[in-house]
Amino acid sequence: MKSKVFFTNLHTGHGQNLLTKFEKLIIKAGIDNLSFENKFTAIKVHFGEPGNLAYIRPNYTKVLSDYVKSKKGRPFLTDCNTLYPGKRKNALEHLDTAYQNGFNPFVTGCNVIIGDGLKGTDETLVKIDMKHVKEAKIGHAIADSDIIISLNHFKGHVATGIGGAIKNIGMGCGSRAGKMEMHSSGKPTVITEKCRSCFTCLKSCAHDAIHEINGKAFINHTHCVGCGRCIGSCLFDAITPASDETNTILSEKIAEYTYAVLNGKQHFHISFVIDVSPYCDCHNFNDLPIVDDIGIFASSDPVALDKACADAVNEGRVIKGSMLEKNKKLKDYITTVNPKTNWIHSLEYACEIGLGSLEYDLISLDK
Ligand code: SF4
Ligand code: SF4
Repeated sequence: MKSKVFFTNLHTGHGQNLLTKFEKLIIKAGIDNLSFENKFTAIKVHFGEPGNLAYIRPNYTKVLSDYVKSKKGRPFLTDCNTLYPGKRKNALEHLDTAYQNGFNPFVTGCNVIIGDGLKGTDETLVKIDMKHVKEAKIGHAIADSDIIISLNHFKGHVATGIGGAIKNIGMGCGSRAGKMEMHSSGKPTVITEKCRSCFTCLKSCAHDAIHEINGKAFINHTHCVGCGRCIGSCLFDAITPASDETNTILSEKIAEYTYAVLNGKQHFHISFVIDVSPYCDCHNFNDLPIVDDIGIFASSDPVALDKACADAVNEGRVIKGSMLEKNKKLKDYITTVNPKTNWIHSLEYACEIGLGSLEYDLISLDK
């Protein structure tokens, strides 16, 4: 069965700006079908790594949070901590980054809660018994919420081809251990040169897997269960996760995590196909976009939404001098930019596990 995906372009004029168009879009796309009264509503957004300027403008989140409040809902913005070193790897740095990039209550009209807590270990285990993931590890505040709204910046991604709704929800809502599970079938290791011998990590391990050897921390992989807690405990970024999963399995695991986040909850999804950078907003830079800005899409089906956005990018106007223009065209623009990825497989798998449909009707709000 086809899903409906709604679209508005970026043309504006007197009496109509991008914020009013955004509000009109979400209403037409059926956000009203959700019952918000007294419901904790998690608005999952990427706050952008400092230095990256392609992330969604926080002004849009105010429109959304005001709308949820007008329906007596309880909105908050959220994301989970990252697995890798950067400026979003614990709740304090993550909040600093969010505020620095404009996601503060004055601008957004609601609070920010880091979904998996101070060190990325505040998680809820969600049993799903799927092909790869038996029990997903989801940031507690997100698992605890009643409604999920994903606000996605659609762009390229080095491992998954596209960073859209499925990626924002699946990878983004995983706790640190959840992210470990998606990225790897392996265990973390200590980078000896970076280790300052503080041994804080020893206390973080519930499996007695970390020991001092020659004055440095060492992880015994026989005892390690790959929970990832030690990564967040090291203030010197000396513990590094493995990243040894194939892109195909990674994409399937992300879809399974998305299922774990959305299953049994009301949900709604919005994607901005603007500043379509070749890589995701986790990088502290954003290269020239690969195609011209296209517009804003919304749907209650995250798979159809990602497919519609990907199709729009693949039909977009190539930006001169971009990474896309410089590369030899493979089968589509998205794969050309990140050739080792298979974005369509990730959506096919998401469809197979019941997250949505690859078929859609695109309904434009513009004349
Ligand atoms: S917490 Fe980090 S710096 Fe301290 S001992 Fe462990 S690995 Fe080394
Ligand atoms: S990943 Fe978990 S089990 Fe393994 S060493 Fe770190 S804290 Fe211990």
